[in-house]
Amino acid sequence: MMATTHALAGVAVASLVALGAPEQVDVALAAAFVGGLFPDLDLYAGHRKTLHFPVYYWPFALAAGALAIVSTGPATVALACFLLAAALHSTMDVFGGGLELRPWLATSERAVYDHFAGRWRRPRRWVRYDGAPEDALLGALLAVPPLLVAGAPLRWLIGATVCLSVGYALVRRRVPAVTEHLVGFVPATMTEYVPERFVEG
Ligand SMILES: [Zn+2]
Repeated sequence: MMATTHALAGVAVASLVALGAPEQVDVALAAAFVGGLFPDLDLYAGHRKTLHFPVYYWPFALAAGALAIVSTGPATVALACFLLAAALHSTMDVFGGGLELRPWLATSERAVYDHFAGRWRRPRRWVRYDGAPEDALLGALLAVPPLLVAGAPLRWLIGATVCLSVGYALVRRRVPAVTEHLVGFVPATMTEYVPERFVEG
């Protein structure tokens, strides 16, 4: 799934804060947006392993959620929403595609690394690959609840994120050729730093 879909999933869940603590909703949405993106910062360093914890984020997210309920404030709500969105992201990656350069070919058996079990989890491909049409559609649907409760700046951010998702989905299948072209310019001494999936044939 696209990083933007994960961000939108995070804000979709965080929009529930509007029911219990409407004054914290923008803090919740902003923190969930960042938390939903956060695991994918490992894109160039052990992608879907270094910052993806499909098991270990959850206890911290639930503890932070409990703290935010008993002591509601911007800091506790932000922490809970950040962790919840990161946990959700790591778990959701199982339902997407694998790690290959052309994930629509479905050749990879690696969806996300499970540190608890000490092995890679297999991709379920409910969303076939990141940037698939159903990925963009899912993001657009997830954007509806937060758009109803967000303040103006966040509404813009969420709307722009949906547009970005749709735009990426439209060009997604051209990305590998562009990536391979760019990798061709990397000096030979540097190629060891290029992630393996970017140089496959
Ligand atoms: Zn991810």
